[in-house]
Parts: sequence; structure tokens; C-alpha cells
Amino acid sequence: KLYNQVQDLKGNIRVYCRVRPFLPGQPNRFSAVDHMEEGSITVITPSKYGKEGRKSFNFNKVFGPMATQEEVFRDTQPLIRSVLDGYNVCIFAYGQTGSGKTYTMSGPNELTEESQGVNYRALSDLFLLSDQRKEIICYEISVQMLEIYNEQVRDLLASDDIRNSSHNGINVPDATQLPVSSTADVINLMNIGHMNRAVSATAMNDRSSRSHSCLTVHVQGKNLTSGTVIHGSMHLVDLAGSERVDKSEVTGDRLKEAQHINKSLSALGDVISSLAQKSAHVPYRNSKLTQLLQDSLGGQAKTLMFVHISPEHEALGETISTLKFAERVA
Ligand code: ADP
Ligand code: MG
Repeated sequence: KLYNQVQDLKGNIRVYCRVRPFLPGQPNRFSAVDHMEEGSITVITPSKYGKEGRKSFNFNKVFGPMATQEEVFRDTQPLIRSVLDGYNVCIFAYGQTGSGKTYTMSGPNELTEESQGVNYRALSDLFLLSDQRKEIICYEISVQMLEIYNEQVRDLLASDDIRNSSHNGINVPDATQLPVSSTADVINLMNIGHMNRAVSATAMNDRSSRSHSCLTVHVQGKNLTSGTVIHGSMHLVDLAGSERVDKSEVTGDRLKEAQHINKSLSALGDVISSLAQKSAHVPYRNSKLTQLLQDSLGGQAKTLMFVHISPEHEALGETISTLKFAERVA
């Protein structure tokens, strides 16, 4: 009960932390994580005076390296199901490159039923639940896939840039929106999206870690007796890598990319933390990402941030800055 009250106070913002396991074949297994509990993680902090310290961070939930995709999904499911009741939901994956963002949202490269990520599980679950309700409510479900790279929005289902509309920041309605009615449809669309993403990435090596990708699910439900129509939406966002780049080492395009990523991740942090603090002004307009998601962040909308941690001791600096970002939005 207390937990729910806390949730209410925080205006429907939840933060989950997930720690990636060490990868097979990694020789160095000295971890930066001291210990984990259900709602907190304690990491080693480097000390200027030669002696290491410890610092703890609190979350709504912490998933250790052994947590399965199914366990992670189980704690996400209530949020996802609320979309069918007309809620707007945003789920973000945050963390440095290699920390497991894509694993959480999409799964590993070699996908199995068991290793499917949140995206696929969310859609399967929406199909399942909408089928259970089909005598009462008729649901229509459709999806969009967008990528934001250097503050440009690309339609991954059409492999096209999306024009900005002058009156309202961004016009997503002109992004391709395709109806889906089965998990097979979803897999097809995700494959198209991934292919379009890969095509645009040939010029620059692994652009995917330097762009945000967003799968949006729109739901319309018509009550068969009353005729009432409700709308819900869900944005599933695999964010660009949060690692800071050394400005003395990069120039040109890489520097520009880094600045765009920095700007949009801090704009997202600013929006979520001002929502968490219930401040009167929410600075949505500072990045494409927050403009795009404006209607789904704040108000009655529900937000979940997955914060990803790489376990390696060498990642400690990034881990601490990731945890500090999370602390600010929690
Ligand atoms: P990111 O998207 O943050 O750059 P990835 O999701 O690509 O990171 O993860 C990096 C590597 O670690 C991939 O090979 C991925 O399959 C693996 N990995 C990430 N999280 C897990 C996990 N929870 N369990 C097993 N392997 C994982
Ligand atoms: Mg990734």
C-alpha cells in the first residue's frame, strides 16, 4: 500500500535498474557492483585518496544479472495492459552502449521465444488481452517505428525523413502507421524497421547506438454496447548510448552526434525530473525526443525508465553517471 502511495506522489514515474551479466569469454570479472537488493544497488566508488567507497542508489526495482526476460516483463506487464484501458505509456531503455538496452527492449541478436524482449512481449500480451475482451470491446492496434538521429526524425516503416510541422513541433501523424493483429505481423514490421535502420547505417558504423529508436503502439477500443471509444498509446524507446565522449578526441560528425545525444538525453532527464517534482513548467521543447513524446509524458501518462548497468569495473565512471541520471528522475 505504501508503495502505491509513493507511486501516486511521483506521478506515475517508475525507475527499474537492470544489471547485465558478464559476457561469455570476458576475462576480467572484477565487478563494479558491490551488492544488490530488491530496491537498491550499491556500487564501488573510486576515491581520490586511494580507498574505495560504496554508494547506494534506490529504485522501484533492481534486476540482477540472472533476471530473465520473462521476469523483467512480468513487472512491466501491468503498465502495458493499462494501454488497453486508454492510458498513454512510455517505456525507456537508458544506459551506456553495451549495457543491455537493446537486449531488454528487443532481445539478443539470436532470438528465441525465451529471449524475446519487452517490445514483442508487450504486443503479444496486448493481442492476448484484447482477444479475451473481444465480446465487450473491439480493439484496433497499429504501430509506428521511428528513429531520431541528430535531431532528425526518420520513419523506419517508410525509410523516410519526417517533415517538421511548424505549428506543433513535430507531426507524427504523417509517419507510417500500420495495423497489426498478430505477433507474426509484428515480427514482420520489426524486421522491416531493422532493415531500414541498417540501410541508413552503412555510411556510419553502428549508428544504432547513436540514435534513439521508438516503437509506438496505438490502440483504439470501441465498447460494443455503449459505443464509447477509447485511445491508448505506448512508446517503447531504445535510447542512444549515454556514454560521454571525450571532446578532445572527437571532431566533426562524431562531435555533432555526441552533442545531439547529450542534448536530447539531458532534455529527457529534465522533463522527467520536472514531472516527478510536479513543477509547473515542463521543458518539452528542448529536444525532438521530448517534443515527440510530449503527449505521452505527464498528465495521466505512465512512464517507466529501465536504467542499464554494465557490471565491469572499467565501466564504473559511466555506471555512476548513469545512476546519477536515474536518481534525478526517480
Ligand atoms: P546496448 O543496446 O545497450 O548497446 P546490448 O543490448 O546490445 O547493449 O547488449 C550488449 C551485449 O550484451 C549483447 O551481446 C547482448 O546480447 C548482451 N546482453 C545484454 N544484456 C544481457 C542480459 N541481461 N543477459 C544476457 N546477455 C545480455
Ligand atoms: Mg543497442
